[in-house]
Amino acid sequence: MTVYAGPVFDMAVQQFDVIADHLSIPTDERERILMPKRSITVSCPVHRDDGSITVFEGYRVQHHLTLGPTKGGTRFAPSVDIGEVAALAIWMSWKCALVGLPYGGAKGGVRVDPGSMSMRELEGLSRRYMQEMIPFVGPRTDVMAPDMGTNEQVMAWFMDTYSMYQGNTVTEIVTGKPVSSGGTLGRREATGRGVAHLVRRVMNELDIVGGATAVVQGFGNVGSHAALELYNSGIKIIAVSDLTDALYDRNGLDIPALLRHAAAHGSIAGFSNQLRYDPAAILTLPCDVLIPAAIERVIDAHIAENLKCRVLAEGANGPTTPEADLILEKRQHEIFVIPDILCNSGGVVVSYFEWVQDLQQLFWEEDEVTRREYQILDRAFAQMIGRAKKDRIPHRTAAMAIGVEKVRAGKAMRGLFP
Ligand code: NAD
Repeated sequence: MTVYAGPVFDMAVQQFDVIADHLSIPTDERERILMPKRSITVSCPVHRDDGSITVFEGYRVQHHLTLGPTKGGTRFAPSVDIGEVAALAIWMSWKCALVGLPYGGAKGGVRVDPGSMSMRELEGLSRRYMQEMIPFVGPRTDVMAPDMGTNEQVMAWFMDTYSMYQGNTVTEIVTGKPVSSGGTLGRREATGRGVAHLVRRVMNELDIVGGATAVVQGFGNVGSHAALELYNSGIKIIAVSDLTDALYDRNGLDIPALLRHAAAHGSIAGFSNQLRYDPAAILTLPCDVLIPAAIERVIDAHIAENLKCRVLAEGANGPTTPEADLILEKRQHEIFVIPDILCNSGGVVVSYFEWVQDLQQLFWEEDEVTRREYQILDRAFAQMIGRAKKDRIPHRTAAMAIGVEKVRAGKAMRGLFP
């Protein structure tokens, strides 16, 4: 029993066990690779607009520091707990190693519904959370980024708070900042663009042409940019959902108009009454590409049996349960899975570019950022496919095995201190 126990952490353990068995990792080595190096829980008291004070619980989990600083997003959501954050940190480690970044994984979060707060309250919470984390983070220790419920503005507050305590501007403490505060061109779009790039690549390989359709769950940073990229490539986005609503149009939704609506209203609710659809049913709509881009564990065994897509592109972290994976393994000739640690890795790849640019104070053009992002994704994709074919294993097992092997090798070479 660990403090992390819970459905999402248990899922990360189950996935790791599959990889550890595949790689024949001895039992006494497994915990050293899997269990987080460090986790921090803090209380964040915030002055509310009505004069009261609310205390929010915040977390940061740093999985391993073997290959460099840790790196990972910060999530503001009511469902956040230490186990979920730990699982997300572990997945970040395999992801960074798979794409060859000099980072271990980390993740942070605050248990809060950011939609229920005013901007002033959100700023207070963001600043307090960062201030509580100052002893544990740093540009060479742990670099934060956005995740669900946080955005460029929150990153600017994080950076400002850290910098005020240091006495100088430290842009390299977080990534996903606004360009006006040391961010990089192309970071806002990076995760969704990466998802779309890999989807197009798989569609080419599977010879899916003409009138292709996609369904996207989640219309935040990842989902909306993936949808827009695919829309711009001529793919019909027939259904979209978020926390508030779902929309379906078999002729294809007007994604630029939906983006404008979501930017103005904060969600897709109210876009159209005629196109409203059952949110629970969109995952099993017949389509060429399904992109879960919201939360974990939405594709369970039942949904996996009923999927009618040809490509499952995991924009979200951990959208597919291990039980669903067993079904997808049986259906691997019908459904091509692009596993999360590869599919959404464009975000951390461009975060890495942002960190490098901040450290060097030398900034790149956007097409340079995107060209290099796609180059890294293509290399990792080819490695995953090669490994899957060679070992006759599912894509997720192949991708995670490559990541776990690199972390394991790093730990083995450095040895155990003291
Ligand atoms: P976001 O907060 O910008 O958007 C989340 C979206 O999901 C919103 O539209 C929200 O309404 C919707 N949503 C939440 N719960 C839902 C539910 N139960 N059903 C349907 N929709 C729901 O978050 P984001 O940054 O786009 O992150 C989405 C996912 O992608 C998360 O799993 C995150 O960890 C992962 N991810 C994000 C990045 C990044 O760069 N932002 C990078 C890699 C992975």
